[in-house]
Amino acid sequence: MRRRLFMLLSALSLVLCVGICVLWVRSYFDVDVLTRTTFPGRAAMRWWVGCSARGRIVLGTTQVTVVGSDFGESWRAVYPSGFRLDRSAIKDVANESIQFPENSLWQRMGFAMQREHSKGIGNLSDGIALSIPHWSVAAPFAILPIRRFVAALRRRRAKRFNRCPSCGYDLRATPDRCAECGTVPKSAQVIA
Ligand SMILES: [Zn+2]
Repeated sequence: MRRRLFMLLSALSLVLCVGICVLWVRSYFDVDVLTRTTFPGRAAMRWWVGCSARGRIVLGTTQVTVVGSDFGESWRAVYPSGFRLDRSAIKDVANESIQFPENSLWQRMGFAMQREHSKGIGNLSDGIALSIPHWSVAAPFAILPIRRFVAALRRRRAKRFNRCPSCGYDLRATPDRCAECGTVPKSAQVIA
């Protein structure tokens, strides 16, 4: 049961890891932007943005509030609420949603956070955006599949070279039981 759960988890990890890597490669050719628009008040509109571009995943939200009017009513007519997925070629995209400071090493690697608070004429804008590189999301999902792969490789080698399946110790002198870690190899179990 536990073994099956572990296998299922590592298969799921592998799928997620590969999926993120595909998105990562894609991000250098195309920009994927998922937006969600909500209207929290009569004079306010909020955008939620998830974007994959140039090796970075950007997550952000911005709220614009019009002071002293209910202009939000007309926004509702112009901007449909709900989710929206846009795709465009990277060369066609103005970089405003991709640009982050690149002063420190972390920022050059793609980790960044930006806050925006601005007062326009009759409106307030409040936003926050986070940037994380695709690799940092993909890497944790690679751990389980790599462990499985290494374990399978070790088992194969052990079978071929008469070594202990769990620690790799040479079993030629003690074929029934590993002298190093005490594991009883499968071949010995069959005989006993
Ligand atoms: Zn052993």
